[in-house]
Amino acid sequence: MQAQVFKFGGASIKDAKAIKNVGSIIQKFSANQLIVVVSALGKTTNLLEQILHAKIADNSIWKRILSELKQSHYNILEQLGLDETLLDNYFYDLEKQFEKADKEQYDFHYDQTVSYGEMLSSTIISAYLMKINLPIELLDARKIINTDEHYRDANVQLHLTQKNIHDAVKSLLNKGKIVLTQGFIGGAKNGDTTTLGREGSDYTAAIISHCIYAANMTIWKDVEGVMNADPKQFANAQIIKQLSYYEAIEMTYFGAKVIHPKTIKPLQNLNIPLVVRSFENLENCGTTISSTHLPIEYPPLIVLKENQSLISIQTRDFSFISEKHLQHIFTVFADFRVHQNLMQNGAISFSCCIDKNDRVEDGFIKLRKEFKILVNENLQLLTIRHYNDAIIQQLTKGKTILLEQKSRNTIQLVLQ
Ligand code: ASP
Ligand code: MG
Repeated sequence: MQAQVFKFGGASIKDAKAIKNVGSIIQKFSANQLIVVVSALGKTTNLLEQILHAKIADNSIWKRILSELKQSHYNILEQLGLDETLLDNYFYDLEKQFEKADKEQYDFHYDQTVSYGEMLSSTIISAYLMKINLPIELLDARKIINTDEHYRDANVQLHLTQKNIHDAVKSLLNKGKIVLTQGFIGGAKNGDTTTLGREGSDYTAAIISHCIYAANMTIWKDVEGVMNADPKQFANAQIIKQLSYYEAIEMTYFGAKVIHPKTIKPLQNLNIPLVVRSFENLENCGTTISSTHLPIEYPPLIVLKENQSLISIQTRDFSFISEKHLQHIFTVFADFRVHQNLMQNGAISFSCCIDKNDRVEDGFIKLRKEFKILVNENLQLLTIRHYNDAIIQQLTKGKTILLEQKSRNTIQLVLQ
């Protein structure tokens, strides 16, 4: 029997009622071999980030937010009828980790603290699922998902991870266990906890699906499936029932938030279908992303990214932007981990659009000796796949287009 992998994100486990619903979904599918990946409860990750930032800024408010976070977790324990001391050790250790945090090694401290969100949620959920008599085995993702030490954006070491999963997961599934583990977090060789980037639980589930050669992977969400635009930005967004891996990787790369962009590759490589469906409405089977050979008629797929900065980098002496210059610029961007959402070059300048990013200023210091740098902030980057003139007109109405790039299938516009 091939296993199925389920991923439950923050919204699906935001309170006791939601966790009970997750329990009934797992019960319903428990005749199959199941691996369940969970992220932190509700908005816990955001709160942990806030606490870390307050602590680093020496603002004593961090203790108050931490105790509120603790209280909300304890309330859930109580509402689920679980042992109320279950999380005591975690909160004790978490406070110690926050005490140690400072600005110097921000990324490292981030991973040692923010990762607790998933440890807490998985502890609660495994205890609850056991209570309703499901044969749950909780595995610590830090021991399975092997990564390098690139804190906050760690790279998964696939071969080691694959071996761990074979050793740890296969036999449990064969014994009829349902395996539960944390998304988003991993472990480095040196024993440190690492994280895979915000919203990284989808990626964890995809890595596990790949390593176990799953029959399919399901992301349970608070929306009915993948839509052609973010329904929070566009009221008449519609569900797309079938999507190719290609279309999905393009959409997520351009910034569609519905799935983490790294999720597609591990699944596509082994042809594992990905289902995105609602945890509230089980009647609806959502969106299936797979290697479809049938031509699909897509509606325009729209991704609107806010908080964009347009950077123009010009030579100071009117010499052409050469490959050597570009090499220098790209090295600095790579060193400061700044991703370019769009790029274009002219005779003496190179322009790119990036997410508003605090790190980048330090990078600019390195470039300013050689180049003049202009920055235009608070812009939008609009990407439309399968565009037509009407939709471009509709979405750019009243806005100034600062930069435009068009291919046969995709148009990207930087708007003010
Ligand atoms: N809890 C983490 C986050 O909110 C990971 C995830 O949700 O996928 O970013
Ligand atoms: Mg989350």
